[in-house]
Amino acid sequence: MDCLLPQFLNARLADGSLVDFAVAAGRFSAIVPAVASSAPPPGAIDLAGRLVLPAFVEGHIHLDTSFYGDAWRPHIPCTNGFDVRERVAFQMRNLEQAAPMEERARNQLELCIGNGSLAMRSHLMVDAAVGLTHVETILGVREKYREIIDIQLVAFPQSGILSSPGTAELLDEALKLGCELIGGLDPASFDGDVKGHLDVVFGLAEKRGVGVDIHLHDGGTLGLFEIEEIAARTKALGMGGKVAISHAYALGDISADALARAGDRLAAAGVAIMTNAPGNHPFPPVAALREAGVTVFAGSDNIRDSWWPYGDGDMLNRANMIGYRSGFYEDSELEAACDVVSHAGAKALGLEGYGIAVGAKADFVTLRAEHVPEAVVAVPKPRTVYRAGKAIAKDGAMVG
Ligand SMILES: [Zn+2]
Repeated sequence: MDCLLPQFLNARLADGSLVDFAVAAGRFSAIVPAVASSAPPPGAIDLAGRLVLPAFVEGHIHLDTSFYGDAWRPHIPCTNGFDVRERVAFQMRNLEQAAPMEERARNQLELCIGNGSLAMRSHLMVDAAVGLTHVETILGVREKYREIIDIQLVAFPQSGILSSPGTAELLDEALKLGCELIGGLDPASFDGDVKGHLDVVFGLAEKRGVGVDIHLHDGGTLGLFEIEEIAARTKALGMGGKVAISHAYALGDISADALARAGDRLAAAGVAIMTNAPGNHPFPPVAALREAGVTVFAGSDNIRDSWWPYGDGDMLNRANMIGYRSGFYEDSELEAACDVVSHAGAKALGLEGYGIAVGAKADFVTLRAEHVPEAVVAVPKPRTVYRAGKAIAKDGAMVG
């Protein structure tokens, strides 16, 4: 087939223009202004003005610990306010009674794919109790879905590093097995040793040439201190673009001056910030950080697990939540919310060939909306998801 012959007609781009486009070898090979034609090419798909968005980027999820599709697990509250250590203990108890991990992971993956995410970063628990079992299981699941979704895996020390003897060695093993990133968890409040924790994380990153993505729930000046330590190490090691801090709640509860300084340091070091705009927590100010030049991306984080009962695997809905909690009303702000779950996510994950452009991978979602701002506020559910130009999911269900 002529690779320039449009197979997709009347697609609406983010700028509102109507185009026809062609896909060859899995990539956009031509994008041209739509032409009214009484005789469309045989086999062409008329998108009838549907908006075409690049497939969403699920930047932070836990494929190993969700109960999505399994029995409902009522949320257990912490005894005395939010306590990461207590939540980890609840999680261990719940996981012992859960359906097989592969089944739960597949449920969650297909939920995300059905909603239009075709790139994902999943953290996987590594500690002395579970060893490498979660990593091994999800590596197997990733292999089965490799033609459909690109998945990065983070070796995540859910039980700390220094406070869980043997974990550093297991993390190293997990990287050897195929995890692309090393994780971390509240170096101060969980492990009680910021330097010791970060020495292991950045030491392994340097040794194995992998990226870093650290869970940081610590708030206020303590959290800010850790954020600045991470930025300083990233800069010193020349790891800009390969390091992310997930949650970084501290950025949401410090003064404007402190935030401006932190934003400048994060931008200069090339450290990205992941937020899921969670419940009643302070969270990083998305607009101010973007303004400072920081890459802000998003993820569902937990979906129906021991941490909270929420999550629907829909990154367009996540953009809506981020916009809502950020007080985004103007079109440019709503477009920024969409950028967080798409282009900014692609940048944070270092994805090649992302977007709707000639030469980019033809991974896209079609839905009914006049433009991006309307898509963010309306979150239309009827969608078709295309991988390499081929429909793989429709209205939430896998096809083909
Ligand atoms: Zn997480």
